[in-house]
Amino acid sequence: MLIDFRSDTVTRPTPGMMEAMMKAKVGDDVFGEDPSINELENMAAGMFGMEAAIFCPSGTMTNQIAIKCHTQAGDEVICDETSHIYQYEGGGIAFNSGASVKLLHGDLGRINAGQVLAAIQPDDPHRPHTSLVALENTSNRGGGSCYDFEEIKKIKAVCSEKKLAFHLDGARLWNAMVAKKETPKQYGEIFDSISVCLSKSLGCPVGSLLLGKKDLIKKARRVRKVFGGGMRQAGFLAAAGIYALQNNIERLAEDHRHAKQIAGAVGSKQFVKMILPVETNIIIFELDESISAPVLVAKLKESDILGYAISPNRVRLVLHLDISKEMTERTIQVFNQL
Ligand SMILES: *Cc1c(COP(=O)(O)O)cnc(C)c1O
Repeated sequence: MLIDFRSDTVTRPTPGMMEAMMKAKVGDDVFGEDPSINELENMAAGMFGMEAAIFCPSGTMTNQIAIKCHTQAGDEVICDETSHIYQYEGGGIAFNSGASVKLLHGDLGRINAGQVLAAIQPDDPHRPHTSLVALENTSNRGGGSCYDFEEIKKIKAVCSEKKLAFHLDGARLWNAMVAKKETPKQYGEIFDSISVCLSKSLGCPVGSLLLGKKDLIKKARRVRKVFGGGMRQAGFLAAAGIYALQNNIERLAEDHRHAKQIAGAVGSKQFVKMILPVETNIIIFELDESISAPVLVAKLKESDILGYAISPNRVRLVLHLDISKEMTERTIQVFNQL
């Protein structure tokens, strides 16, 4: 029994999801004729109370399209220093949009309104032009940390006053909403664009959605084509997305419960120096000098448990759809015996 905690992207479609995919009605989505994609986009837009949505092959693409739509070359994007858009999208902000970034030192990936206000460039020809603020909820490098919704509202007020676009990288927004008992409509009211992944915690093989106003999504459709992301009969993938939105959101609470249970066992180990607060489905812990992250990961692998060394002394474990109660219990047992 292999227990794979490397990422919540490793899930395989369940029989129910496979059946939905096999039965999907499809057409050419570049012509706007794929009924399953149209259904998924309408369904997601409806959930968030937003005007429109566009289905894309990856979360990286949805984020990069949003940044491209909100900025001009020479603009500046404000985000946390650990954000996915800066750290893990191959320098895409510069490559695709010719924009620079203003990095803030947030609290476990979460920035606040005061920091954003102070980071806005003055209106001066020497300076880049600040045009976009991007948040990440949950924060991946923050160990799945969630924003306090009141802080998001305060940042929104700054964006409105200073006429800045406001984007949310919500790759794992589903986890945040389940953990904090929030609704998609709350988020839809605040942000100009929201990117959500279907391929992460929701168990789809492929796919992300970008949500926003009609004119923004119209522009996004053009940018998606330029980025090479216009797909044809991708309704098979959209059908998996529809299935996931209908069946796989509430169960995230189970992943969060499992994460807390495993974190309890991890945190009691002598060699674990620090463990980030476990709010959702991610566990990140730091090791003392007695063992390095790659060595611990190799040791866990001997017991068929896969983790990820995110730095020389930090390990990440991510809970997901394919981790059962039995696997959670087995993992706790292995940690207890280490
Ligand atoms: C995974 C992830 C993405 C998108 O990743 P893809 O692999 O391109 O789908 C974006 N933001 C965050 C925070 C992520 O964890």
